Amino acid sequence: MAGEPQADCVFCKIVSGDVPATVVRKTERTLTFRDINPQAPTHLLVIPRVHYPDAAELAAAEPEVAAELLAEAGGAAAGEGLEAYRLIFNTGAGAGQTVFHAHVHVLGGKPLTEGLV
Ligand code: AMP
Ligand code: ZN
Repeated sequence: MAGEPQADCVFCKIVSGDVPATVVRKTERTLTFRDINPQAPTHLLVIPRVHYPDAAELAAAEPEVAAELLAEAGGAAAGEGLEAYRLIFNTGAGAGQTVFHAHVHVLGGKPLTEGLV
């Protein structure tokens, strides 16, 4: 069924507690934790507890959860004291997506004025 946990998904394992993560925020429907390979002084990932392969599929199936993902990204950035930050949704392997469970990157803590690619 759509949204069900996937046995081979590392983020589903973080949701279930089978893989450890440095969790900084939790809601009933989302989890926010530190990226294991940070690309900026602050690098968080906000994920839905339900499994969808990318953020667009999440938004199509469960728009309230997608909205909460964005709200949590803003809350997490504020919680880290970030005045400016970048949200990234890599979608598809060709765009650098490596974990096929919807997530948004929250990057900040250094000037992010360079281009996107
Ligand atoms: P993406 O390339 O958009 O799919 O991003 C996946 C992100 O997940 C990468 O930045 C990884 O460093 C991160 N990541 C993968 N496994 C873990 C993990 N076990 N804990 C925290 N972050 C992870
Ligand atoms: Zn998953």
